[in-house]
Amino acid sequence: MELSLVDSATLRGAGSGGSCTGHEHPRPVDRTVAGATPNRVPAPPEIKVFISNRDGVCAECGANLGHSAWIHLDQAKRAVCLFCADLDHLEFLPTGDAALTRRAKQASTLWAVVLKWSRSRKRYERQGLLVEEAALEAAEAACLEDAPARAARAQRRAQQALVADANYVARFAQEVRRRYPGCPVGREHTIAEHACRKYSARVGRSAAAKSLDGDAIDLAVRAHIRHTETSYDQLLARGDERFDARREIAALVDAVARRWGS
Ligand SMILES: [Zn+2]
Repeated sequence: MELSLVDSATLRGAGSGGSCTGHEHPRPVDRTVAGATPNRVPAPPEIKVFISNRDGVCAECGANLGHSAWIHLDQAKRAVCLFCADLDHLEFLPTGDAALTRRAKQASTLWAVVLKWSRSRKRYERQGLLVEEAALEAAEAACLEDAPARAARAQRRAQQALVADANYVARFAQEVRRRYPGCPVGREHTIAEHACRKYSARVGRSAAAKSLDGDAIDLAVRAHIRHTETSYDQLLARGDERFDARREIAALVDAVARRWGS
């Protein structure tokens, strides 16, 4: 059974100020026409993440999403987890600090708006943005005098640290280094910390131990390569579908993985 976590009728106009007609927006640019450059390129549609209000499973990996999971809707309007949607490397920046939000969005190649259905107001409301960590850091640096933002950031970091199991991260990093000796110095820790956040948050410690097998390491490394060594995030940001974007960069990901693996 495919469980639609979000009533599709209520999705219309979400986050767009309610001016949406309910029709699908056309793809902004027809990229099948090689070399065609329209005079004015409309902004790609916002990438949306919904905080669901029902239990469900990811339509792609089958992971149990639990209650109030953060989901993305794929082309067929099925709920997929943020890991499958390739948005799980982004950090949540709650609404509340307009200057910080504006700067972080501007500095982030890929970002998504986070929406939650309000039962009382009968509409989707913005909860904040998912932005790149580096963009958030740059924005915070720009808002240096803004002490509350820094305090909020420190609190988020502390929460993340609580989730992270240091031993597990170290073992994961070690495995990354062993399987990918050519991986740039320090990257194994970035990859491991990210994977740890995912596994410890989603499947718990016992399953996390299993995640140290080769397939999980390879998946984590390839996801990292996609986001850091290719134009994948730019492709998503301009509105490309995930699978199109993955096809486009697949050869490059293979090449980098081979280089790191030898
Ligand atoms: Zn999934």
